[in-house]
Amino acid sequence: MDIFDFSSGREGYYGQYGGVFLPEVLHNTIEELLHCFRECKEDPDFWREYVRLLQNYSGRPTPVTHLPNLSSHLGGAQIYVKRDDLNHTGSHKINNVMGQGLLCQRLGKKKVIAETGAGQHGYATATMAARFGFDCKIYMGAVDVARQRPNVFWMENLGAEVIAVQDGQKTLKDAINECMRDWVLNMTDTHYVLGTACGPHPFPEMVSWFQSIIGIEAREQILALVGKLPDRIYACVGGGSNAIGIFQGFLNDENVELVGCEAGGLGVGSNMHAARLAYNDASVGVAQGYKTYFLQNQQGNMLETHSIAAGLDYIGINPIFSYLWEQDKVRFEAATDLEVKEALRLIMRMEGLIPALETTHAFASAIKEAPTMAADQIILINQSGRGDKDIFMIADALDDQQWKSFIKDKATQYRLEEN
Ligand SMILES: *Cc1c(COP(=O)(O)O)cnc(C)c1O
Repeated sequence: MDIFDFSSGREGYYGQYGGVFLPEVLHNTIEELLHCFRECKEDPDFWREYVRLLQNYSGRPTPVTHLPNLSSHLGGAQIYVKRDDLNHTGSHKINNVMGQGLLCQRLGKKKVIAETGAGQHGYATATMAARFGFDCKIYMGAVDVARQRPNVFWMENLGAEVIAVQDGQKTLKDAINECMRDWVLNMTDTHYVLGTACGPHPFPEMVSWFQSIIGIEAREQILALVGKLPDRIYACVGGGSNAIGIFQGFLNDENVELVGCEAGGLGVGSNMHAARLAYNDASVGVAQGYKTYFLQNQQGNMLETHSIAAGLDYIGINPIFSYLWEQDKVRFEAATDLEVKEALRLIMRMEGLIPALETTHAFASAIKEAPTMAADQIILINQSGRGDKDIFMIADALDDQQWKSFIKDKATQYRLEEN
């Protein structure tokens, strides 16, 4: 069953969630995108071309790895990991952007725009644009530009123009507004590359479709490796694209439990988290072009969110998840910043893997629950990204003193060179 059979029959809706809430000027553009997407989805050649591209350019299929040391340390279920961290650019984000690149070619557009908070989606989009020969503009809040220099460095060197947005709080929300403004002005030759399974229809369906490659591969691989399906699958949920990606391989399997792991930040009641569903703090609203659960106050103003992982630090959630949560098809849990740091240390030492901070939320939830499961049960974790590329963020998170002195020495060296 296609997840989109869950929808209410109303195009672009999952129960009451989803939809298209955009200024009227964009209606033709979004219609054109929807039409092109429907054509691509029905064309088996398009999917074959997409798979071939990811095989040749990004190293797919990514393997599934057994973690024997961590499993026996925890003394419960056997833990397996789907290795989307091994993709080019270090995460699952490349799947979606390469797919949208192919679609953009079909649309006959030559320019792409995107917004980015931490810069990971901007980095992936700039990579795709370089490969396809598109003109590329990345909108980023000025505050984020200042604190995410490594990703900005790569975007610029890959040929993208990074625009530091000076409005509002100069972060992701302001970058989204500015990117929308650009789209309205330049929609005839510009495609907006949305980075997660959120926003107006058809983006949630389209991004989920591209990311379904993770679940299709994982199902085949785990069956080949252990001869049965996993009992539980854990994936971290920011906007919700890597999670819906792997879950789609198992949505029809009654006995596979799907667990979405959100950012617990400083914990329940702290108001410093991004656990929309797990902490039951969000309410239904319309923003950024779609209807879903948002972390907002009673007036509908968006709340500040916090996470140790920049990629999970988001107010909304995939509208498909709002629906699947209501239907009890996906369980939501959260891991706090502290739990994530502990989990990361454990995984590095025990298995030699360095998951991204986002991904580590899924590990932290699995680590909590694995000991309560039987030794013949199977856990599958989606390793959405790798952490080594985020050394600045991870070294900060782990508060590494040697790293701090290294940065200080570098700064001193530059200062001496300037004088
Ligand atoms: C961006 C990012 C996420 C969060 O995005 P989703 O759309 O929820 O998948 C998770 N993991 C990594 C490694 C990321 O870069």
